[in-house]
Amino acid sequence: MVEKTSPKPLKSRLFLRFFVVGTLAATATACGGGSDDSDDARSVTVYTGRHYGIEPVFEAFTAATGIKVRFTAGSDPELRERLVAEGDNTPADLVMTADAANVELAAAAGLLASVDSAKLTNAIPEELRSKKNEWFALSRRLRVVMYSTERVTEPPTTYAELGDEKWSGKLCLRPSTHPYTQSLVASMILNLGSDTARAVVDSWVANKPLYINSDTDILKAIAAGDCDVALANSYYLARLLAEEPTTPVAISWPEQDGSGAHVNVSTAGVTAAASNPDEAIELLEWLATEGQSTFSDANFEYPADPNVAPAEVLLSFGEFRADLAAVRELGRLNPDAVELLSRAGYE
Ligand code: FE
Repeated sequence: MVEKTSPKPLKSRLFLRFFVVGTLAATATACGGGSDDSDDARSVTVYTGRHYGIEPVFEAFTAATGIKVRFTAGSDPELRERLVAEGDNTPADLVMTADAANVELAAAAGLLASVDSAKLTNAIPEELRSKKNEWFALSRRLRVVMYSTERVTEPPTTYAELGDEKWSGKLCLRPSTHPYTQSLVASMILNLGSDTARAVVDSWVANKPLYINSDTDILKAIAAGDCDVALANSYYLARLLAEEPTTPVAISWPEQDGSGAHVNVSTAGVTAAASNPDEAIELLEWLATEGQSTFSDANFEYPADPNVAPAEVLLSFGEFRADLAAVRELGRLNPDAVELLSRAGYE
């Protein structure tokens, strides 16, 4: 069922240079998941870079299968560095990420096993899993244009339009160190070419954006009048509207006449060094099938399986065209995106 891929330590050392990470002891938080080493219960250990509402999801899996889940939460790059350091001794059976680039970089470093499962390939479209089936998207997260419904009547309809000078001093962006920013720019390099993507990023920087390292705070900044337009993931608006339905912020779906709105994904992959590969595959298959709604709806993300309906609140966001074609290229283009952002002076 599981084919282990050989580790490539040289490559892993190379990609780690692109990430600034803290010490693991300080940043990765160990969270107990009902573990009990004294009995014979089946269990699976997860490293997860996606934290949103994850405990109820694991509890539902345990209730359905009897398999206990232990998990450690951290950022995607931190957990990948931890996997490299632990090598064959890692306790992790399954890795979950909040970004496509990070999981692809883990696969390229030989940290993930190729999984041959008809359940998975039937549920998850080809564009939303790695070419060798080392990782599978579980939900889609759309990075879109957000705008003030109080001050903006004609919101931008492309990522490039955020660089129009009429948004000078009125634009909020997430910093360049964040994977969401890097993956969006990687998709622009793919869709527009490096030179045009660079020109777009230059135009954003020329608008003197307010950099805020939290999508929730970015949306609150729009509501407070600190900026009129911004980039954020759609689920942050769904969350905010669930708490405060009158929040004066809306989505403008970008690139609807072209490549479609940028899609990033929450993913999972079985580690090459898994001690419990069967349980890891069972969890992965459950998340992609019976658990699709539980997983996606916990954070108002769109299910990766197009046949599974999204959470009701997402219906108000309407239909949109999504850029599925770029998802598998985000890891390969990550170093180019990081370099482009740096050269453009994007903070
Ligand atoms: Fe997020």
